[in-house]
Amino acid sequence: KHIHVELGKDSYDIHVGNGLLDRAGDYIRSLTHTRNIAVISDSHVDGLYGQRLEDSLAAANFTVHRIVFPAGEKNKSAASLLDLYRQLSEAGITRMDYVVAFGGGVTGDLGGFAAATFLRGLPFVQIPTSILAQVDSSVGGKVGIDLPSGKNQAGSFCQPQGVLIDPQLLRTLPPRYVHDGLGEVIKYGCITDLQLFELLEAVDEESIFSHWEEIIERCCSCKARLVERDVLDLGERMVLNFGHTIGHAIERYYDYGVYTHGEAVAAGMSMLTGMTEEMGLTQAGTTARLRHLLQRYGLPQDVDATAAELLPFISNDKKMRGQHMTLVILKEIGKARLLPLDASELPKFIRKKGAK
Ligand code: NAD
Ligand code: ZN
Repeated sequence: KHIHVELGKDSYDIHVGNGLLDRAGDYIRSLTHTRNIAVISDSHVDGLYGQRLEDSLAAANFTVHRIVFPAGEKNKSAASLLDLYRQLSEAGITRMDYVVAFGGGVTGDLGGFAAATFLRGLPFVQIPTSILAQVDSSVGGKVGIDLPSGKNQAGSFCQPQGVLIDPQLLRTLPPRYVHDGLGEVIKYGCITDLQLFELLEAVDEESIFSHWEEIIERCCSCKARLVERDVLDLGERMVLNFGHTIGHAIERYYDYGVYTHGEAVAAGMSMLTGMTEEMGLTQAGTTARLRHLLQRYGLPQDVDATAAELLPFISNDKKMRGQHMTLVILKEIGKARLLPLDASELPKFIRKKGAK
């Protein structure tokens, strides 16, 4: 099964399938005749799966250079990037060669950015291994690093040659990151895919493993369609930010790590929808249904912080231009819309904990 992303000369396919990791060599061989290939991964993923990927690539006649950086968001940094350049150079990688970014979202962003900029850009393939990376960060071509001034402050748009997704790799993902990813998965159901939402209502954390292929395909199709229509994220693609305006503020208000990104987005989606439903902008019953689903997957539906407390953490959001901002709200489950508003109206959209 594959999902085509149509972007003219930057088009590519996303392949989703259990066991695909062991066919990575044949797949990448179908894209290139080059001999050298660099595989960039973090220390966890390399330890778990590095040899399997190397074996698959070697069997397809690649000379494999495994380049490993220490796992963790703090290493999505300029220092790591320079270190990757050094290792790519020492491995003798040229512009004819290929790079594989093999890991979670940190690896995809950092490794993708290294590939997009080393020697002015090499072709690269994403093999995402976390839920977040499989449903979100590996598709769409945003690559980059964090700077001391903020997350994702240096980067570019650079599409991969292909994305290879093996849901079986999720079996080793720590529970914390499973929840994190589920927040984004539920978001896709909310913004474009009622059937996905219903599927999530029908399964639970135990039985979800047999459904990952379908879930990931649905999420990737949704993202692919949005990216095709708005590759630079200036319009329609913004619906992917549902829950993120309040979610980012929650992440910043609490010490980093109190709420994972996915948890903060979950609370953001439900707090916002509570208000828009009250205002009559959202179909009645939507909030209750959303809260119920979040609860089913152990995700928060509110946080203790009040609108007044969260607000200062929204005002420096990069999505806000001047006093005008765009909020993503739900019309109903499966249908999002963009709501332009003045920043001063924002407090009205943050629901208090315990409010009906
Ligand atoms: P991550 O890459 O740090 O992975 C989370 C943890 O899980 C790491 O410790 C990693 O080693 C481990 N891991 C990954 N796959 C595993 C597996 N199969 N088995 C066991 N352990 C595994 O973080 P993430 O949550 O995947 O991604 C977060 C990053 O993604 C952030 O930096 C965020 O900015 C970025 N992001 C980018 C985009 C985009 O469009 N480019 C979109 C959303 C998020
Ligand atoms: Zn997100």
